[in-house]
Amino acid sequence: MGLIQLTDRICYLPHEPEVDRPMLAYVRGDKFTLAIDAGYSAGHVGDFYAALEDWGLPRPTFTAITHWHYDHTFGTHALESISIAHKRTNQFLAQQRELVKDPAYIRSLKQEDVHFRREYAEQEQVTVVLSDMEFEQELTLDLGGVTARLFHTAAPHSEDTVCICIPQEGVLFLGDSTSEDFFHDCYMDQDKLGQLMDIIRGTDCQTCILSHCEPLKKEALLTYLSTIRN
Ligand SMILES: [Zn+2]
Repeated sequence: MGLIQLTDRICYLPHEPEVDRPMLAYVRGDKFTLAIDAGYSAGHVGDFYAALEDWGLPRPTFTAITHWHYDHTFGTHALESISIAHKRTNQFLAQQRELVKDPAYIRSLKQEDVHFRREYAEQEQVTVVLSDMEFEQELTLDLGGVTARLFHTAAPHSEDTVCICIPQEGVLFLGDSTSEDFFHDCYMDQDKLGQLMDIIRGTDCQTCILSHCEPLKKEALLTYLSTIRN
């Protein structure tokens, strides 16, 4: 599987439903490049880098993390870029870094999640590292000719949710933020969903990207979300 061009400066490696790998995106500035999410494993990072090489694209300068869940972060140790995450994401990853030292924890992840079992079929060990840089509210990266605004927001999916807006390209990356919280009995916090919808509505973008879906038009996403907002 190869990259798909989304806009002039943005392409992405699509999500893979069989292993629940999220999409990994790439923003090409004149000076620097930015990847969005580290991915599930060293293998996922390797596949992304190979796809970039096929297109003659350099390794990302930075990698921004949308939230701590393992399919988005457990590849961080294999990155060749500066990783950037919310402070709370790093706190969650510090917990995971301790937990994965226990083989029983890895076994339980494999038992409970068929996708994890597939992604780590060949491996007994999992390496978790924190991101190199952390921020709390907002961080803007000038990549040269294009900027990336990373910002923390309330979201039903996880408390460390970071969205990434690329205003010049009209694209908003939302990670898994619109989904329920899988770690708390799939609870959908309606207040947080409402706050997130306000953020989406107020963001100057045409395209919204959810990590495990095809790209969506902003209006189509808001229409869909309004059907689950009660
Ligand atoms: Zn998630």
